[in-house]
Amino acid sequence: MNIHEYQAKAMLAEFGVPVPRGKLALSVAEAVTAAESLNGSVWVVKAQIHAGGRGKAGGVRICKSIGEVKAAATDLLGSVLVTKQTGEAGKQVNRLYIEEGLNIAREFYLSLLVDRETERVAFVASPAGGMDIEEVAASSPEKILTLSIAGDEVSENEAQKIAAFLGLEGEQEKACADLLEKLYRAFTEKDGSMLELNPLILTGGGKLMALDAKFVADSNALYRHAEIVGLRDLSEEDPREIEASQFGLNYIALDGHIGCMVNGAGLAMATMDIIQLKGDRPANFLDVGGGVTVDAVCEAFKLLFSDDHVKAVLVNIFGGIVRCDIIAGGLLEAIKTHPMRVPVVMRLVGTNEEEGRRMVKDARLDVRWANDLDQAAELAVAAAREVA
Ligand code: GDP
Ligand code: MN
Repeated sequence: MNIHEYQAKAMLAEFGVPVPRGKLALSVAEAVTAAESLNGSVWVVKAQIHAGGRGKAGGVRICKSIGEVKAAATDLLGSVLVTKQTGEAGKQVNRLYIEEGLNIAREFYLSLLVDRETERVAFVASPAGGMDIEEVAASSPEKILTLSIAGDEVSENEAQKIAAFLGLEGEQEKACADLLEKLYRAFTEKDGSMLELNPLILTGGGKLMALDAKFVADSNALYRHAEIVGLRDLSEEDPREIEASQFGLNYIALDGHIGCMVNGAGLAMATMDIIQLKGDRPANFLDVGGGVTVDAVCEAFKLLFSDDHVKAVLVNIFGGIVRCDIIAGGLLEAIKTHPMRVPVVMRLVGTNEEEGRRMVKDARLDVRWANDLDQAAELAVAAAREVA
């Protein structure tokens, strides 16, 4: 689960991480009041959306007067920001964060993530901060250090390695070690799956500070973090994903043409892979899970049928705990309100497969049957071509 930059900064500040002074503003008047209360001579007005790349898209405005703050807030609030990370549709700006403007001497990249290979929390650091880190990784990988933390805290040796890589010495090296320790604590105590400071800066006065902050909470740990759940901003999330989550479906919207309905995350991944192999792309990831009900399957089909990107639906069920008749029942329920406007290819095997097939056939639905995944993917890709 994502939270906003201003929320991530407030969370980090609780752990003693230095962040710029700032205030949230939901209106132009609030933006002006916020700037006045931050008294200084430079302010930064930052659009709060769950996406990065705001700077290049005009979502971060440096203002030299209260009048400029007012103009920037007027311009940004309610506007739609299209950045490299939002997709074409962009995201509407409903919240602004007004910060004191700072003098930047240097910009670094610093993040924490769960490294599945080492099964540890790892820091990723780069002296080339403030830019697109994927670009740095591609063009100059030697500028990126990935370091897994071996123990329960950042050791002196590990901190030294990171500080040296960033070119920090003396007092700044100490400040860096202190910062790493605090970030590590924040990340583990809050059960993060990702924490990114891009940039972490060295101010003109020689202080390290988190100028930008992105925090992604591990959704599986939210049950023990009511304080993070409270930060959820549903207006930033895909309405289809919210809908699906209410039915206990693991659904993620993607941008291909083949709507997928699969049981089991591994099988769902394999299904997406084989669709790509056959020359198209999945419109979604969907794992209906083991204890799925007719209602949830019905909801899942409705999501697929109401998605304009979907040109064909591929049902790949390998019934174990999931019963094929429940999948068929969900489809029959869904078409009462959402007609099958695209071809449906079904591979339905395992528990109660005969009954499931019979239900679909009795309803005289125009479903194309496949015996295995390979054939199913081939049929679905061909069907999507016909429709397109
Ligand atoms: P992002 O583009 O969405 O990642 O937004 P950031 O918060 O990283 O801001 C983009 C860029 O704006 C930063 O890399 C800085 O160069 C610049 N910026 C942000 N805040 C300040 C500030 O207080 N002072 C100055 N001079 N530049 C800032
Ligand atoms: Mn940034």
